[in-house]
Amino acid sequence: MSLLVVGSVAIDSVETPFGKREEALGGSATYFSISASFFTRVKLVAVVGADFPKKYIQQLKKKAIALDGLEINTGKTFRWKGKYLDDLNTAHTIYTKLNAFESFSPKIPDEYKKSPYLFLANIDPDLQIAVLKKVHSPKLVACDSMNFWITNKPQALKKLLKKIDIFIINDSEAMLLSGENNMLKASKYIFSLGPKKIIIKRGDSGAILFAKTGAFFQTPAYLMEKIKDPTGAGDTFAGGFMGYLSKTNRLDEPGFRKAVIYGTIMASFCVQDFGPNRLIRLRKDEIAQRFNAYKNLVAHY
Ligand code: AMP
Repeated sequence: MSLLVVGSVAIDSVETPFGKREEALGGSATYFSISASFFTRVKLVAVVGADFPKKYIQQLKKKAIALDGLEINTGKTFRWKGKYLDDLNTAHTIYTKLNAFESFSPKIPDEYKKSPYLFLANIDPDLQIAVLKKVHSPKLVACDSMNFWITNKPQALKKLLKKIDIFIINDSEAMLLSGENNMLKASKYIFSLGPKKIIIKRGDSGAILFAKTGAFFQTPAYLMEKIKDPTGAGDTFAGGFMGYLSKTNRLDEPGFRKAVIYGTIMASFCVQDFGPNRLIRLRKDEIAQRFNAYKNLVAHY
């Protein structure tokens, strides 16, 4: 079943303890789409400026991502610069330049409006709401956000959370939004804002899936010795999670558990190289191989 995503398509500059990259392909919707493309047909809605390199468009096309909803306007592309210190779980934003997103009014091609699966990747919550309004009764809606929007647009974010099924965020964002540093307490507060399920990502400590009754699935990250760049790991997790759900159309508890595992596996590839480079050269058999290795690690006897 098809999967629609709105979010940022960006030009990123990133510095980690292992090196730096300037003006590389990035953006929440970019990582999400490439990750989900291994499972299902992804339709992307976003805006870039006239300066967006053609080779990046080609990279997205090669993953069979539908780009009819990718507007190219005369302005400049969204830019983000971030730095990671030794704690690779925390991105320090150096700048966020919204550029083309400042005046963006999303146009959804008619055939996209019937998409049963919708992911509102990290972007201005007012834009996430605008897209949600235009899609006809989706079966499952998930969304992400980040400290930038929690701080700058709290009311719009709260309005959005009333209307979605699954909220996917990381632990520091959950703390910022709830004012709680205990994840169970944070999830209770976030449930009071509306979502039916919450996934809290905890970097190399893995992810927890919460239902209103409490945590119902907790899984560790796939451990690796060499991590080069954690940028996009959260969006890549969401792409694996939503990609698996829309491929299988399985919205029961075992389906959600397996989707969290696929999210975890996809994120583990993302961090192995700068930007989306590792995901771009990833093969399906490598995903299956790592999934099996991980299954052996976490199996219960
Ligand atoms: P992640 O590491 O999964 O949280 O996502 C990193 C991606 O999010 C980068 O490629 C950025 O271009 C993008 N990004 C950073 N800040 C924002 C923002 N305020 N709104 C939308 N996307 C953003």
